[in-house]
Amino acid sequence: MLTKTKIYLSSPHMGGTEQDYVNEAFQTNWIAPLGPNVNGFENDIESYVGNDKKVAVLSSGTASIHIALELLGVSKGDEVLCQSFTFSASANPILYQGATPVFIDSESDTWNMSPELLEKAINDRIENYKKPKAIIAVHLYGMPYKAKEINAIADRYNIPVIEDSAEALGSTYFNKSCGTLSTLGILSFNGNKIITTSGGGALITPDEDTKNRAVFLSTQARDNAPHYQHSTVGFNYRMSNVLAGIGRGQMAVIDDRVEARRRNYEFYKKQLSTYSNIEFLEEPEGFFSNRWLTCILTDSFETREKIRLTLLEDDIESRPLWKPMHMQPVFKDAIHFSNGTSEDLFNRGLCLPSGSNLSQYDLDRILAIISKIPNL
Ligand SMILES: *Cc1c(COP(=O)(O)O)cnc(C)c1O
Repeated sequence: MLTKTKIYLSSPHMGGTEQDYVNEAFQTNWIAPLGPNVNGFENDIESYVGNDKKVAVLSSGTASIHIALELLGVSKGDEVLCQSFTFSASANPILYQGATPVFIDSESDTWNMSPELLEKAINDRIENYKKPKAIIAVHLYGMPYKAKEINAIADRYNIPVIEDSAEALGSTYFNKSCGTLSTLGILSFNGNKIITTSGGGALITPDEDTKNRAVFLSTQARDNAPHYQHSTVGFNYRMSNVLAGIGRGQMAVIDDRVEARRRNYEFYKKQLSTYSNIEFLEEPEGFFSNRWLTCILTDSFETREKIRLTLLEDDIESRPLWKPMHMQPVFKDAIHFSNGTSEDLFNRGLCLPSGSNLSQYDLDRILAIISKIPNL
């Protein structure tokens, strides 16, 4: 019997030149959290995202959110408004700072933070003498959030926005790169993301001074002295020069990666739109998604599970959409402003295999399995 290989949800996809940069790091002995690949990778990202931003590459997306909160002065007792429909890493750094997350549900056009609920939450917290210190909004699955509306509210109440663009490198909003739409943005290069350094992240900052401050905090906050002197608590969050080498190779193929992910989405949409109980999230006018993961919305939890389990039997990985943070045991006591949207998406939605390295053979195999499901 022919054994079929496992199809993953989203697996690393090397471009070919990564190893040259890594070898160079070895040959020159820059095996450290600094060196030419770190600077080179930062330059590559700066050119790619544009908008005059300065980028600091760090050890993870999570670390980047942590440093962003630190830069904004979020500390013990503060409240931070965070999109509920996301991966837990968007919210965990709020707790690292001793601050309190308040979760905001989504709207149905982009599945991201509802501007309406955001404003409601801000007013409620102000009435309770707890003006939020920051907002964390997320471009989930690569789909930009409604930045114009979110930024307008944030500006009106003078609250800074951290843009969690971990899943959205290559996405744009009215031709501006996701990650550059507010004061601070973050990226992730974890193994499952659109490009990867195995593990890694970046903080996108408005200017050189902010970047330097982020690097200072991420490299143990050493004061300018011949001995080791510290006046601030530091972190060990800088990206290694070896991993930044992988990042340089990956940046050379980012456009291909976005194209391949979008092709997956188009394939699934064309082939599965014929089913009356499967829907796709469309891009609103001016929104461009990298389609990091192709998500389908079925008519019920039962249909969702039927598809997921049938794929699993054939060793094909799919995954329910993110379980909202306000439903997570770890955040059970958190205040939340919900409208049922993210809970419904979690119940009925499924991420299909979406790697940029899927072959047509893989895609056809996935489709064949789904089309054999009875009563779909
Ligand atoms: C992956 C991810 C993160 C965290 O990035 P890491 O590099 O894995 O720490 C944060 N937010 C979202 C939405 C993510 O998908």
